[in-house]
Amino acid sequence: MSSLGRRAKLSIAAIVLLMVGLSAAPAIEARIEGVTGRPVDARSQPLSAPPVVTVSGPHEFVSTVKGRPVRYDPCAPIHVVVNERTAVEGADRMLSEALDSVAAATGLTFVNDGYTDDAPSPRRGSSPGSRGPVLVAWSDPEESDALEGAVAGVAGSVSTRGSQWFDTGAVTLDGPQLGRLVRQRSGYAAARAVVLHELGHLVGLDHVDAEGELMQPEAQPDVTDWGPGDRAGLAALGGGACRDY
Ligand SMILES: [Zn+2]
Repeated sequence: MSSLGRRAKLSIAAIVLLMVGLSAAPAIEARIEGVTGRPVDARSQPLSAPPVVTVSGPHEFVSTVKGRPVRYDPCAPIHVVVNERTAVEGADRMLSEALDSVAAATGLTFVNDGYTDDAPSPRRGSSPGSRGPVLVAWSDPEESDALEGAVAGVAGSVSTRGSQWFDTGAVTLDGPQLGRLVRQRSGYAAARAVVLHELGHLVGLDHVDAEGELMQPEAQPDVTDWGPGDRAGLAALGGGACRDY
């Protein structure tokens, strides 16, 4: 029916717009106050090496210190908790696949610690140096102002000022908007691409205006996986030495 077609086009248009606002100062937070010091599961060597990337392309980092990208400790797993209040159909698989993809592209290790009722909050991360798990929250514009309008997701990580290292982060997804997308033809891949894009922000990638890259500010329906620049940036964000706690 034409209404379905129109809805599909409208939704694609929305997705085209949704990422415009994503890079704006990620409002993130550390969830568990007082979690500081060396993680009990940190090792003395990187848990896994980033892949050898033979491609190159444009990529940008969210922040750098002394010319090097701020990143997560490659020697400790990144713990993730999930609030599935507005989760789309297939959300578990979608997030699992997206985390696996980022892990493979960076060498970073993610551990899903399960579900939480914690809501995304602008206060999260307000305590410098505290390191709770990353919160992935399936939310909506009523709960999260940042999701108003066409924005389908926001994400970012926090670091103590001047530090080379991210302490924690958050990904907030517009469940209702992505739910409408998932029900469209090829919608699952398009929605997963949004999750991948947000996880890209989480681990430190910023937008690039470059065709074929997933970190473009405007999502493209035919770009549902990392481009060469994305992969080069992700490999750089996963390599290097352990964090000195
Ligand atoms: Zn973005």
